[in-house]
Amino acid sequence: MTLKTLQPYQQYFVPAIPRTPTNRYASIILLRETKSYAIFTTEGGEQQDVEQVPAGLTHAEPATRLVMFKRKQVAPERRTGKALLRQYGIFPYALKDGKVLYGDEALREKNHYDDCYLTEGLCTHCPDCLIYGYAAIEGEGARRARLMTDTCFTIRPYEIIQKQVKFNVIDEAAHTSGTITEYDYTTPGVFLPAVETGVDLTADEFTYVLGNVLRTTRYGKEGSRQGFLRNHILAIAFSDVELFANLEFTQALYDALVDAGKDLAAEGLTLADLQAHAPAVIEHLTAGLAGRLTLVTDKELEAILDDVRALNRDEEQLRRFLKGLNDESASFTV
Ligand SMILES: [Zn+2]
Repeated sequence: MTLKTLQPYQQYFVPAIPRTPTNRYASIILLRETKSYAIFTTEGGEQQDVEQVPAGLTHAEPATRLVMFKRKQVAPERRTGKALLRQYGIFPYALKDGKVLYGDEALREKNHYDDCYLTEGLCTHCPDCLIYGYAAIEGEGARRARLMTDTCFTIRPYEIIQKQVKFNVIDEAAHTSGTITEYDYTTPGVFLPAVETGVDLTADEFTYVLGNVLRTTRYGKEGSRQGFLRNHILAIAFSDVELFANLEFTQALYDALVDAGKDLAAEGLTLADLQAHAPAVIEHLTAGLAGRLTLVTDKELEAILDDVRALNRDEEQLRRFLKGLNDESASFTV
């Protein structure tokens, strides 16, 4: 049940989950914007993750930028998708004579899948496992992800978008003020440009990935549940080569803003600033592409996003969609 608005792009998707790659890329070009304080650290780290990189592609002076590693972007989106699969009754499921069974029918089968969770309990057959991949699992091997992204970087330098906040932890029992804890926070209104590239996805798998990007709002330090992020989708691109790295996207936007006279150290950045520059920046970055490219923006893009949102609002339609998606992935055999 391909979304109506994706039907004109049918040729850029695979008709069924492929066994070998054909390099049909469907990229989601987006801006991630913090809408609250957030913390981006690797496990156990006190300070946030930063990297020194050239500020722009043409302005080569060094800049220290906050980074959001790939896992910090993709893991929350996977969890969103998995929660949706559970909510809509995909689990338990079982495979019998090439048919996918659900609910009580599935429970009657000896080999049924009760759930699928990161990182120890991946079922290896649901849409999440087949799209986002998994590391080696006994008896199942490993599956390479068909969704690619890499580390993304803030546009403005770390020094400006970061804030140290001290908390005085009050001991309620002893009525004493105890340890002072200091946290390194990313402030609200910080932009991280990103591209998520689907490789050889079916149109429905792409719809699922897009839904996860639109639905996910919590990123950053795990366990704390803080860090509200809004994903703004700028374009969808169909190609047969990868477009550009997240860092290149950040650097090109930096160049465009500086060349337009924006003082990034003194002024804040708004979504409107970036939306104004994004089309020219994307065009510039893809001008010398060694492959074909179809860019979907403006009205056509909005129509697709509206279609995905409408699907996610309609309980019955979404139930049918997710079941169909799981039927495809669970019955897929190598
Ligand atoms: Zn799974």
